[in-house]
Amino acid sequence: MIHSLIASGSSSHKIKEGNAADLYKSKIIIAIDIGHSKNKPGATSSKGISEYYFNFNIGKLLLNKLLAEGYTNAFIVNYQGDDISLKDRVNVANNKKADLFISIHHDSVQPKYLISWRHNKKQKFYCDLFSGYSIFYSNKNIVANKSLMFAKILGSKLTRNKLTPSLHHAEKLNGESRDLVNKPLGIYRVDDFGVIKSTKMPAVIFECGIIVNRNEELLLSNHAYKAIIATSIINSINVFFRNYGHTRNSLQHSLSQCLPLPLTTPQTASTSANHSQTATVYHQSCTSAAPCGQRPYQRRSLTTLRGLCRSCA
Ligand SMILES: [Zn+2]
Repeated sequence: MIHSLIASGSSSHKIKEGNAADLYKSKIIIAIDIGHSKNKPGATSSKGISEYYFNFNIGKLLLNKLLAEGYTNAFIVNYQGDDISLKDRVNVANNKKADLFISIHHDSVQPKYLISWRHNKKQKFYCDLFSGYSIFYSNKNIVANKSLMFAKILGSKLTRNKLTPSLHHAEKLNGESRDLVNKPLGIYRVDDFGVIKSTKMPAVIFECGIIVNRNEELLLSNHAYKAIIATSIINSINVFFRNYGHTRNSLQHSLSQCLPLPLTTPQTASTSANHSQTATVYHQSCTSAAPCGQRPYQRRSLTTLRGLCRSCA
């Protein structure tokens, strides 16, 4: 996987680069928080399934994929699903000196939108008006700018994979009226959510989708769809640490220091009518309209040097 991120080099060189990247990934500590617990399972889907069940399935899938990807220090905060306070979730992540905190949830809607229906001969409630994911960050987190940056990268990966954000938390209603700071990417600023406010590392709450929506519940139960979500998160983690590095003092370096490529990519552009002079232009990150946060892709053709990454080019 990491080899595809490396522009050039001999095969032996690539192996060395891959090892460096794997070593780097193994030092990154990622805390996955499974929203709610077995006893207090959160929302209920249109078919009557508890949110906790959805959260756990995605969280476990994400953990397994992260471990396979080389993030051997990834862990689930509350693997057993026992009751655990928000404060204790924060404490677990802080005590383990996690580098990133992702709280996994699945969404519902305000009660006034719920409609009664019968499923398996039992009364259930649904709402098909809203669908999509949401990402929350807190501006009171001590590294709020990094939380927001991770949220942007995640939103970009999800939308590129054809997922759409839900905007229903911004509706002017009691219990909603959230501050939608990035509409295209579905990012809300919610300062006082405990787990993302008090964690001492970049932190987001990720609502994977709306389980009271009957179609979206089917999608969120589908393994291929869950795999797209998990892969989007992992690709976001790759980009985030590749570009913005650790927050821990003991690991104050970025992946670029493990690899021979520079963070900045030189670009040569014609600056005069007769093309006799050239100027080198550097872009720190991809110049696409949606901030994907990836490094630009170095291309030698003058006509395609636009500072875009491989995905956006
Ligand atoms: Zn929840």
